[in-house]
Amino acid sequence: MNATVGQTITLIPGDGIGSEISEAVIKILEAAGFRPVWEIVAAGDAAVKQHENPLPEKAINSIEKTRVALKGPLRTPVGGGYKSVNVALRQHFVLYACYRPIESLDGVETKWKDLNFVVVRENTEGMYSGIEHEVIPGVVESLKIITRAATERIAHFAYKFARRAGRKKVSIIHKANIMKMSDGLFLNTAKEVGRLYHEIQTDDYIVDNACMQMVMNPEIFDILLLENLYGDIMSDLAAGLVGGLGVVPGVNYGDDCAIFEAVHGTAPDIAGKGIANPTALLRSAILMLDYLNQSAISQRIDRAFRKVLREGKTVTQDLGGHATTDEMSRAIINSFE
Ligand code: NAD
Repeated sequence: MNATVGQTITLIPGDGIGSEISEAVIKILEAAGFRPVWEIVAAGDAAVKQHENPLPEKAINSIEKTRVALKGPLRTPVGGGYKSVNVALRQHFVLYACYRPIESLDGVETKWKDLNFVVVRENTEGMYSGIEHEVIPGVVESLKIITRAATERIAHFAYKFARRAGRKKVSIIHKANIMKMSDGLFLNTAKEVGRLYHEIQTDDYIVDNACMQMVMNPEIFDILLLENLYGDIMSDLAAGLVGGLGVVPGVNYGDDCAIFEAVHGTAPDIAGKGIANPTALLRSAILMLDYLNQSAISQRIDRAFRKVLREGKTVTQDLGGHATTDEMSRAIINSFE
């Protein structure tokens, strides 16, 4: 697919710092030679102001058509009965695989060095099925749904990715010692799928032990495969080992649709100040370029942003520098080979 000419991509700039980092990332992508048609649509707070709906049809219709979106952070209004826009998008487009690469970056000060693993999270069920009810006043029940079909789907995603990326091991994370039926089904189904991929090793960890291992011996992990809630928590824990949510990219993949997003929030404390770090959204955009078979452009940007981080002279405050969002993105553009 040649996405530089004629390809249309949905852009949801996002709330808070969203517009600042989106603008910076688009500038970098276009300077590197990626110039699609950006279909800009509002969601979150911006859409509530315009359409009284955080996820208007215009946004849904755009992604229905383009099947690829780049998305900044969104604030789902608290109260008012609104569902999380992020959850609604994942469910509507059946974006069942949340993919988060965890990699140490030269120039980003962290306790751990040379980490390189991937968190794969099931996105559509588990504790996030949203099925809750009040049994009697003062007693509520929240149902955790695990199905063989969705577990097979996410396990195949993890093992196929392992095979394609030349990775060696998938670690299945669970609490099957306590939730014998639900987590038992997840564990056993994922193991069955794993047996179809002979060259990839499989092991498993109970989730509490996995958390301890992740902070004490994170190098033991290659790919982690988790259901929704454990994946949500452990992917942020993992991000913390390599510099936090400001530098880690994220993707929600379906079979024929993908949303590439910064996993941090709208950063209301710094919104409008022009000092937000564009790295997380930029790295998500780099993954989008790979998805669109634009690896020459993605590698060009990847090399440039790594150089800027390594030198540490023109980076934003959260990375220990004094640069504005605009100065950091210009430094990345000026580092293109
Ligand atoms: P947050 O990620 O917005 O901010 C946490 C801290 O990290 C803040 O100090 C912030 O300034 C800093 N930070 C985050 N991104 C940064 C960046 N790119 N550059 C520099 N600093 C950065 O988390 P929060 O304050 O808990 O949430 C704020 C809002 O964001 C909430 O409304 C929440 O619902 C929403 N949110 C959205 C998403 C998403 O759309 N994917 C994810 C998380 C939170």
